[in-house]
This record gives sequence, C-alpha cells and structure tokens, in this order.
Amino acid sequence: MKECKHLPKCEFVLRYVAQVKPHWDDFVSLYCRGDFQDVCKRLEQYKEHGSQPDSNLMPTGRRVPGIVDSE
Ligand code: SF4
Repeated sequence: MKECKHLPKCEFVLRYVAQVKPHWDDFVSLYCRGDFQDVCKRLEQYKEHGSQPDSNLMPTGRRVPGIVDSE
C-alpha cells in the first residue's frame, strides 16, 4: 500500500501519535502506510470536504479520548 499523501501534514499523526509514542504507532503502520487507509475516516473527510478534519478525529472515526487530549 502506498503511503497516504496526507501523512506529512496529518494533524492527528503529528499531534497525537507523537504525543503518546509509541502506543499509537500502529495507526500509522495500519492506516497511513497500510491497507486500512481505504477506511480511514480522516481520509474520507479530506476527500469529501477537501480540507483537513479536526485534529482529534481518529482514523477509526472516534474522537481522541479526553485523557489523551488534556495532556
Ligand atoms: S490518519 Fe488517515 S488521513 Fe491521516 S495520514 Fe493516516 S491515513 Fe492519511
């Protein structure tokens, strides 16, 4: 699977994956560089609206849990 073209500037990755490293690295390997990219809710929004979704929208479509977001 080709790497998602949004990876270098995807705010979820830059902010939250970096913040909780290494716990969410699987998001990058499974979604951003893997087959789950096809079902990434962030990517879906990029395509639908042509703009970056809120940084706290996860690839799964859920929101970043408050315990992570408040750190
Ligand atoms: S989280 Fe989704 S939109 Fe962001 S880089 Fe990964 S696959 Fe692309």
